Amino acid sequence: MPFLSVKNLKAYYRTEMYGVSRMVRAIDDVSLTLESNEIYGVAGESSCGKTTLIKVLSGTIKPPLKIYEGSVNYQFKRGSVDMTKVSGEELRKNIRWKEISYVMQGSMSVLNPVRRVVKTFEDIISTHEGIKNRKEFLERIREHVKKLGLPPDVLGLYPHELSGGMRQRVAIALATVFHPGLIIADEPTTALDVVVQRGVLQLLKEIQGESKNTVLLVTHDMAVHANVADRVGIMYAGRLVEEAPSQLVFKSPQHPYTKHLISSLPVIGDKSGKSGLEGTPPNLANPPQGCRFHPRCPLAKESCKTEVPVMRDLGGGQRAACHRLEGVRQ
Ligand code: SF4
Repeated sequence: MPFLSVKNLKAYYRTEMYGVSRMVRAIDDVSLTLESNEIYGVAGESSCGKTTLIKVLSGTIKPPLKIYEGSVNYQFKRGSVDMTKVSGEELRKNIRWKEISYVMQGSMSVLNPVRRVVKTFEDIISTHEGIKNRKEFLERIREHVKKLGLPPDVLGLYPHELSGGMRQRVAIALATVFHPGLIIADEPTTALDVVVQRGVLQLLKEIQGESKNTVLLVTHDMAVHANVADRVGIMYAGRLVEEAPSQLVFKSPQHPYTKHLISSLPVIGDKSGKSGLEGTPPNLANPPQGCRFHPRCPLAKESCKTEVPVMRDLGGGQRAACHRLEGVRQ
């Protein structure tokens, strides 16, 4: 059984404004699985549904977001859990931080700016496990941060006294303190310079390698996926359009949109200009019929405007949803 199995998930935002109701189809019929002991990357441009996917997978489903169809099943150590049916109490007490943790883009969102780092650890551990012995607690978190290559002195500092990279390492230390089965890393290196970025990604990789848990790495940066992810899923306009082991995605992309993403990556020594994709991502309140990529796709044919392409298994763990896979391959 996979660690996480998402089946035919439809998660929409329903909004009412001036008596007009709108349905934004942010996740529309997405199916995927995540295995234990893998780093799964999710890529795609802004508004493709990455953030909504994170919300659903982490159980942060609040109106106007609602799940209309599908299931999100986890195989946690303590048993199987369907995230679409779990209660808020269960989420707070037993799932968040302990089974699923989150590394956000801005580490300041998790660190309290007016409390020393140790206090944030204290808040999280006391809420989920309680602290019976303060000496043991301090020893435990000192050991934990040391293991992650941080000097234990950081515990006594305020977040503003740390560099951006150090803060993000502390955020990773917080996310791993209970050794959760899944770490969701949402654009964890955006806003960091490339050297620090490399260190943070290396740390995430090392932690995953050691604890053999699952990391869901969400970023629009394909270079990050190339360096870190074991498998990559490409999203476009609320749908998964391609998925494959990362080497295959970069060596032999099959979907026209994936091809575009890969070809836009800079190559050392290549002085030719990169051409952008024409058009803009569709409005998900009124997405195009058929293949949602058809208004921008250079290979679109008539049937693309009316028929939704189904995911096809292409072998070697690769699958893609396109009516012209043979054409793309050539
Ligand atoms: Fe392009 Fe048609 Fe394939 Fe969509 S289904 S990606 S429009 S060729």
